[in-house]
Amino acid sequence: MSKRDYYEILGVGKEASKEEIKKSYRKLAMQYHPDRNPGDKEAEEKFKEAAEAYEVLSNDDKRAKYDRFGHSGLKGGQDFHQYTNVNDIFSHFSDIFGGAFGGSSIFDEFFGTGQSQRGRKRSSGTPGSDLKITLKLTLEEIATGTTKKIKIKKHNTCSTCNGSGAKSSSSFKNCSVCNGSGEVRQVSRSIFGQFVNIATCNNCNGTGKIISEPCIECSGDGRIYGETTIKINVPAGVFDGSYMTLRGEGNSGKQGGQAGDIVVVFEEEKHEYFVRDGDNIVYDLFLSFPEAVMGTEVEVPTLNGKAKLKIDSGTQPGKYLKMREKGIQHLNSHGAGDQLVRVNIHVPKNINSKEKELLKELLKMPNIKSNRS
Ligand SMILES: [Zn+2]
Ligand SMILES: [Zn+2]
Repeated sequence: MSKRDYYEILGVGKEASKEEIKKSYRKLAMQYHPDRNPGDKEAEEKFKEAAEAYEVLSNDDKRAKYDRFGHSGLKGGQDFHQYTNVNDIFSHFSDIFGGAFGGSSIFDEFFGTGQSQRGRKRSSGTPGSDLKITLKLTLEEIATGTTKKIKIKKHNTCSTCNGSGAKSSSSFKNCSVCNGSGEVRQVSRSIFGQFVNIATCNNCNGTGKIISEPCIECSGDGRIYGETTIKINVPAGVFDGSYMTLRGEGNSGKQGGQAGDIVVVFEEEKHEYFVRDGDNIVYDLFLSFPEAVMGTEVEVPTLNGKAKLKIDSGTQPGKYLKMREKGIQHLNSHGAGDQLVRVNIHVPKNINSKEKELLKELLKMPNIKSNRS
């Protein structure tokens, strides 16, 4: 079996930049992802092939060797990693598959597989899946940060068996597939020779043990589905659509498996008075014409109650008055944004006859007339 050219596999030219290579690989990985192509051996092969090509071409040293000597340039050394197990790929390229959620996989978010534990260190049992929740926040809550308690339904560790799923500590027997070792040996052949791959036993998830007598409370699952209250500390300054990850607070794993995470996505509610602009908030103030001309003091709403604001005489419409640090606290630094008060002039649509008379009088005054020629 001759190997395909790595550039060809990724569909990029020989001069492709690292960014192009990464982009192309990401696309292929999405396409051939095993979760999207369950049971499709060809897709799995393509998935592995792309990973192998990416590993080489994303590394300057390996790429240089490959460019000079082709596949044989990588033979024998430590440079080359044979992917026999797709889980390996996930752990190896965590920069591609993880990151945005602070380590939990954005990749799984795309597919909703709920298997983002893939590639993490395994404990015994089957890992629990992640949960995604949307949290609505008012601008006031965002401005200072807040703590929210919400009720969610999820799988919780069974307290009767402590998550083991077994009736007692003696309710286990050795796994018959791996004879209690927790590992199975797989032999594969390739042009590099024969590989003996030691893989985790799927039957016992690497523990070497199988439950002989299950816990009555959870029927051996190690967890119970139910309502739980979770506490979310929302920092000040979060944005609509941004998120935080609550590590290990998602679904508990089966039979003591590692718990998933909760991804909390923030949703900002529309405010009655304010429009957010970064960490500043904008408020539209309407003044009457005489107020703008002569100046006044007005009361304006802020994120924490009303405040007085002085309007200088001769204030022009469209001007922004700055109320320092009355905006939203910065997320990653000290201080806060400002409240910006935009001055508008109220123009009445209906007036009575007396008002009309007065306005006509006013129009005759030299300082009131429009300055247009
Ligand atoms: Zn139990
Ligand atoms: Zn086993």
